[in-house]
Amino acid sequence: MIIVLKQNPSQEKVEQLSAALRDLGLTLHFSQGVSTSLIGLVGDTSRINIDMIEANEIVESVKRVSEPYKAANRKFHPQDTVVNVNGCKIGEGFLSVIAGPCSVESEEQIIEVAKAVKASGAKFLRGGAFKPRTSPYAFQGLHGEGIKLLLKAKKEVHMPIVTELMSLNHLDLFSDVDVIQVGARNMQNFEMLKELGHSNKPILLKRGLANTIEEFLMSAEYIMAGGNENVILCERGIRTFEPSTRNTLDLSAVPMLKHLSHLPVVIDPSHATGIPWMVKPLSKAAISAGADALMIEVHNNPACALCDGAQSLTPEAFDDVMNAVKAQAKFENKII
Ligand code: PEP
Ligand code: MN
Repeated sequence: MIIVLKQNPSQEKVEQLSAALRDLGLTLHFSQGVSTSLIGLVGDTSRINIDMIEANEIVESVKRVSEPYKAANRKFHPQDTVVNVNGCKIGEGFLSVIAGPCSVESEEQIIEVAKAVKASGAKFLRGGAFKPRTSPYAFQGLHGEGIKLLLKAKKEVHMPIVTELMSLNHLDLFSDVDVIQVGARNMQNFEMLKELGHSNKPILLKRGLANTIEEFLMSAEYIMAGGNENVILCERGIRTFEPSTRNTLDLSAVPMLKHLSHLPVVIDPSHATGIPWMVKPLSKAAISAGADALMIEVHNNPACALCDGAQSLTPEAFDDVMNAVKAQAKFENKII
């Protein structure tokens, strides 16, 4: 971090600021130019309050030269993190597929979809019991009953389950859930992230609709700072000016996230595009870009789905996508 000082600062104030910075365990390097003086800070600057330094009367500006996240940062953890859920791995050269309906609707529905996606090669079963809907009049999910049905399906097909937590008030219902999803709309629900930091469950953290990669990694940092290092990052499309797809899939986020962080990365082409026929080409592209997993919505009867039917694949279409995914994974030397 570099602090640019205002012209001709009082020596006394410089000494006061320097002492406060040294108290934070930092080493200071001074550089005196013709008209500008700089202080370079060396050490862990992740806990520094930049606003407070900027508010100091002798400070002109503050520039970060290193990332504000530490636990999620590849620089401090060069080897890839592998999330292992009962032997189903995300990372370490595996290409895992998480598939299932947008929302759990009935026992028949979730079990039929679970069997179909398993037969096609999916490793994880997804399904929402609590749904974040734009309209309060839209189907909100089956709540506790939905979790029970997911657990029944899990028993039936022996696949780990992934489902979204929308409020900490519901956390008790998630005790047998394998992976807790934090949806795009809750990516910056900091109280929720902090609490999940104390959980021992893997967290699938979705990128917010309009959040930068740094903000995304700072949200992962919230969870990791509490001691939970099992975080899976999920890019699910961001809001742009382009209306032909539901969102814009930021595929460049995959190599960038993998460059900046050691956490595994999942691509969700279903929510990114909202279009079932785009799932295949973008799944292949995601694997090429280095994604560790895919999350795909599948419904046994998309036309009657209570949520996101228009973007859901039928089990047959999913099987076709999986054939392409398997071929692409093989080409990229990934184990599927
Ligand atoms: C979902 O996975 O069903 C979902 C609501 O996703 P997102 O938070 O990415 O919109
Ligand atoms: Mn959905």
